[in-house]
Amino acid sequence: MSAVLSALATTPATTPQGVLHEVFGYPQFRGAQQEIVDHVVAGGDALVLMPTGGGKSLCYQVPAIVRHRAGQGVTVVVSPLIALMHDQVGALDELGVPAAFLNSSLDGDEARRVERELLGGRLVLLYAAPERILTPRFMAMMQSLHERGLLSLFAIDEAHCVSQWGHDFREEYLGLSALHETFPGVPRLALTATADDHTRADIIQRLQLEEARLFVASFDRPNIRYTIVEKDDPRKQLLRFIRDEHEGEAGIVYCQSRKRVEETATWLAAEGLNALPYHAGLDGDVRRHHQDRFLREDAVVMVATIAFGMGIDKPDVRFVAHLDLPKNIESYYQETGRAGRDGLPADAWMTYGLADVVNQRRMIDDSDAEDDFKRLQRGKLDALLALSEAHDCRRVRLLGYFGQDSEPCGNCDNCLHAPATWDATEAARKALSGIYRFRQAGGQRYGAGHLIDVLRGKVTDKVTERGHERLSTFGIGADVSEQQWRLVLRQLIALGHVHAEGEFNTLGLSDSAREVLRGEVPVRLRVPADVKPRGKVGRERSPRGTGGKPPPMPLNAAATERFAALKAWRAEVAKEHNLPAYIVFHDATLAEMARAQPATLDALGGITGVGAKKLEAYGGQILRVLAG
Ligand code: ADP
Ligand code: ZN
Repeated sequence: MSAVLSALATTPATTPQGVLHEVFGYPQFRGAQQEIVDHVVAGGDALVLMPTGGGKSLCYQVPAIVRHRAGQGVTVVVSPLIALMHDQVGALDELGVPAAFLNSSLDGDEARRVERELLGGRLVLLYAAPERILTPRFMAMMQSLHERGLLSLFAIDEAHCVSQWGHDFREEYLGLSALHETFPGVPRLALTATADDHTRADIIQRLQLEEARLFVASFDRPNIRYTIVEKDDPRKQLLRFIRDEHEGEAGIVYCQSRKRVEETATWLAAEGLNALPYHAGLDGDVRRHHQDRFLREDAVVMVATIAFGMGIDKPDVRFVAHLDLPKNIESYYQETGRAGRDGLPADAWMTYGLADVVNQRRMIDDSDAEDDFKRLQRGKLDALLALSEAHDCRRVRLLGYFGQDSEPCGNCDNCLHAPATWDATEAARKALSGIYRFRQAGGQRYGAGHLIDVLRGKVTDKVTERGHERLSTFGIGADVSEQQWRLVLRQLIALGHVHAEGEFNTLGLSDSAREVLRGEVPVRLRVPADVKPRGKVGRERSPRGTGGKPPPMPLNAAATERFAALKAWRAEVAKEHNLPAYIVFHDATLAEMARAQPATLDALGGITGVGAKKLEAYGGQILRVLAG
């Protein structure tokens, strides 16, 4: 008999491993989970840094269940987002774990019912926002539980919200140090996907976690394939990418401005995709509705500003695309991390061009921030530009940024198709001389377009009006294509040798340009990659490196049919329970059912993702669907 089925027949498991099997239906812990769970079950404090999709929830849910079963009472989970609480509680409900949330979406009667359950010690997990937890009323309830030995654990999710350095500081998080001060004996577990040193130090200090054990998981997300392409006609490139690689799948497209979000969503929708806009300028109801559709429907492409994403734990987002450069590597990592939480292959795809570099630099320069802060932002942007310009493994650079050494991954654009490079030292010198000559010939500054015309010896109105055909730099770069000149300039700007200023982004030389002018700094550039079309064929030839995990086996025709039938069944259940489909079962679990075609409850219980409660609730129905 499978462990799951025997668990049904006997008493509930009391060990972490037993709970993982029985409740979640998972065969084993991932990475550092086991160690973290053991530490917390034993009553230790911990700070967990784990990338998005790494499996943070289990790190507190398993201890919560184990400790509750040992008579230690409730785990209070601090979480900033209402939508997320709702889905997490829905998922726990499906697993048969008593859980609830307290937030403004409940009416008075509902809230009082939850409070009664809580005070009665029946809840295993209670989710609430920090401002709710810190009210006198809630503190008094916790006090009462504590006196009876029924306050088991505090889990502080999205702990980076306590840091002003982080990207989503929330004032209310600062008050959470009160938990430790009022209930010093209750263990605390803080979790975040944000890894940089500043934020980490802030979390430790502000939440008084100096004594806590620090767990830093690997930041690698081996199933995500990183690709950064030359920006050419970004919307068309995006459409081709989605059509070639992700037709009929869910994804997120990030844009910098609301306007661009609207335009892109409208355009993709006109091209027949199920695309929706999301940004802070939209009405709250519209935003909620769009988010809901993204979570609940198949294959919605959400076109969004960075206002969208935090707390989106949809596991089957197959791609995250950036049409504009994010702010820094942390943001890039956080945003791309929303792809492929289920561990199946997913894409992080970005277009990148000269204007991105110029815009991002300008946004920093023009901001009202302190100089120190600006310097920090510039340094962070530079690191992202270096990643974008890189011709070696993107993952090695990404992980290196977070202080982790690694080997070339085999699953990024540069590993899969080593880019051709050329020695652009001479061209760089010519570009710099071009800018220098403008200055000599009257002191005026010009933008990239005019400079490239002059270098390529193109006779335009502007050239003749200014007499620029007489400059010694006129036509010295006719052998280099316009696109390549843009690359050269972008690299020079990215490296800080050239800066762009003012409304027209006119170019000027930085002090460091001198070394390049003298030929002391070699410049190597990639040959624009977009020239070679890349479609499905190229993809199939290149096996995905999935970090030791075998790529999912494709389903044969009969199994594909069973998979579709299971999905249809799941959609009905999800609708009935008002939950996203993935909370009923993940795609991966349904696919395994379709492939293995179990004929008995016992065999069905052996499939990853089928726990005791789900087996009991749905086993019979699933077997019938599988039997056709
Ligand atoms: P995070 O909060 O760190 O972004 P989640 O807790 O949402 O990640 O977990 C990501 C996905 O991985 C979830 O769908 C979860 O069910 C799954 N998962 C986590 N741990 C395991 C495990 N040990 N075995 C199988 N699946 C797991
Ligand atoms: Zn690589």
